[in-house]
Amino acid sequence: MSTEAEYDCIVIGAGVQGSFTAYQLAKRNKRTLLLEQFVLPHTRGSSHGQTRIIRRAYDQDYYTHMMEESYEMWAQLEKEANVKLYRQTGLLVMGPENSESYQMFKTTLQRNKVPMVVLTRDTFSQHIPHVTLADGDGALVDITAGVLYADRALKTVQGQFQKLCGVIREKEKVTDIKPGPVVTVSTSAGVYRAKSLVITAGPWANRLLAHTGLQLPLKVVKINVCYWKEKVPGSYHIKQRFPCFIQTEGEESKQHIYGLPSNEYPGLMKVCYHIGGETDPDQRDAQTDRSDIDILQRYVARCLPGLVPEPAVVESCMYTLTPDSHFVLDCHPDFSNIVIGAGFSGHGFKFGPLIGKLLCELSLGEVPSYDLSPFRIKRFQAKTKSAL
Ligand SMILES: Cc1cc2nc3c(=O)[nH]c(=O)nc-3n(C[C@H](O)[C@H](O)[C@H](O)COP(=O)(O)OP(=O)(O)OC[C@H]3O[C@@H](n4cnc5c(N)ncnc54)[C@H](O)[C@@H]3O)c2cc1C
Repeated sequence: MSTEAEYDCIVIGAGVQGSFTAYQLAKRNKRTLLLEQFVLPHTRGSSHGQTRIIRRAYDQDYYTHMMEESYEMWAQLEKEANVKLYRQTGLLVMGPENSESYQMFKTTLQRNKVPMVVLTRDTFSQHIPHVTLADGDGALVDITAGVLYADRALKTVQGQFQKLCGVIREKEKVTDIKPGPVVTVSTSAGVYRAKSLVITAGPWANRLLAHTGLQLPLKVVKINVCYWKEKVPGSYHIKQRFPCFIQTEGEESKQHIYGLPSNEYPGLMKVCYHIGGETDPDQRDAQTDRSDIDILQRYVARCLPGLVPEPAVVESCMYTLTPDSHFVLDCHPDFSNIVIGAGFSGHGFKFGPLIGKLLCELSLGEVPSYDLSPFRIKRFQAKTKSAL
C-alpha cells in the first residue's frame, strides 16, 4: 500500500468523460489524479473503438446548442496536440416523414440554422447511392456532422493531461470512498485524499455511488457493434464521402439504427442498433442476446443493398442508460464536493470536451456555463414521488 497522497481533485474512470474532466482540471492548475481500474487503453467500457459520430442533429435544442462549443473544443484539442480527430462526412437522417422524431430532428436543425439539406426522393438517389429510402421516409443531411477518431481522441486527451502534470494511475480499482470535506479514496494499490471527487465510472457508476449512499436509475446494456462487408469494395467508404446515418425509426424497429462509413476495417461498414440486452459490466460477454442483430440483418437487406446482410465482425460495447436518455451531470445530493457524470445513454462521446469542462466547473463549486436542469438528479426523484 502506498502512503496517502493529497490532490485538489480525484477523477474515477479514464473513459472519455473522466479523461476530459481531468484535463480541464489540470488546465485550471489543479493537482489532479485520474484513477482507472484497467490497463490503458482497454476495451471493457464505453469509450473504446476507432470511431464515433459527431453531429448537431438532435431532437432537443439544448444538445444542438451544446454541440456548438463542443465542436470548437474538439478543434482546439486537434490544434493543441497537432493531431486529426475529426473528419467531416455529413449525417444522413432518415425516418417516417410524418413521425414526431424525424420532424423534431428537422425542426431543431432549422431553428438553430445548422447547415443542412433536405433531400427529395430524386435528389436522394443522386446523392446517396447504395441506400434505399423506405416508402414514406423523409431524408435530410446535417452537413456539419462527421466521424471522431475515438481511440486517438482518448489517447490525445490523456497525453495532454499528463503534459500538464496530471497523474494517471491505471490498474487501480477504486474499492472505497469516504465522503467528507476531504474525500478519501481507497484503491487496490493505495489511499488518496482530495478536496473534491468526480465519479465518471461509465457502466460501473452505481457500484461506486453505493459507497456514498446513492443509487441512480441506470440500466447497463451490451451493444453488439456489427461490421458488414461491402459487396463492391469502397462503395460505403469514408473517402468516397459516404455519410454517417441515423434511421430514426422504421419498418424494422422503433429504435434508432445508425451507421458509419467504412474506415477502421477496410471493406467493412459499421451499422448498429441503438439498444441491447441488459448486462452486468463485469459479465458483459455472458449477455448473448442477438435479437438486435436479427433486426439489423433485415434492415441491411432492405436499405443497404450493397452490404452482405450477415455481420462479418461483431464487437462489444456498453451503454449506460437513464430512463429519459439524458445525461446525469450534477453534484451528489448529500456531498457537494462529489460530482457525478453518468448515464451518457449511448450518445455522450461527441460532448466529451464540454462535459469535461462542466464537471470541472461543478467540482470547483462554480456556476456551470450551461443550464444543467435537464441533467439534474432530482428529475428522477420528482418522477418517483409523482408515481407514488
Ligand atoms: C457501440 C457504441 C457506439 C457509440 N456511438 C456513439 C456515437 O456515435 N457518438 C457519441 O457521441 N457517443 C457514442 N457512444 C456513447 C459514448 O461512447 C459513451 O457515452 C461514452 O464513451 C461514455 O464514456 P464514460 O467515460 O462515461 O464511460 P467509460 O468509457 O465506460 O469510462 C468509465 C471508466 O471508468 C472505469 N472505472 C469504473 N469503475 C472503476 C473503479 N472502481 N475504479 C477505477 N476505474 C473504474 C472503467 O474501467 C472505465 O474505463 C457510443 C457507445 C457505444 C457503446
